[in-house]
Amino acid sequence: MNIFDGIDKLIKGNKSAAILKEPVLLLKEEFAALYAQLSICKNQTTALMEEISNLKKENENIKFENCKLREKIETFHTVKFESRNLREKIESYHHSNPHEHACEHCGSTKLRSIRSRHGRIFEDLGVRNALFTCDECGNESSFMVALPG
Ligand SMILES: [Zn+2]
Repeated sequence: MNIFDGIDKLIKGNKSAAILKEPVLLLKEEFAALYAQLSICKNQTTALMEEISNLKKENENIKFENCKLREKIETFHTVKFESRNLREKIESYHHSNPHEHACEHCGSTKLRSIRSRHGRIFEDLGVRNALFTCDECGNESSFMVALPG
């Protein structure tokens, strides 16, 4: 039972309404075509809703992963920063004069470590030939330093 049943009855029961028979037939066809299109649209809408739902879930997962990655990056930066601080501390320790060696020339303990030229030879014997420059007189002094371990 649709809108056309009433119109069909009207045409059958009224001779002067017979001229409506042809246009009503066209309307019926058009209606059927539109109804079929509507059905396709409904299916597409259902599919699209499902896709939106999946995309939303995916978006949530990506957001969560992004958050975790951001935390990792932050941790990495913190570790990098701490590592740099430690390296600076180690470097300043090595360049300082922790054993309070005194300059061979003026007796000052304001010595700065510089790379030893003959380090390798002594390393086999468990010692290092540590070379220092004096902040006071500018001369170099060398001392035997036991290697750790
Ligand atoms: Zn000196």
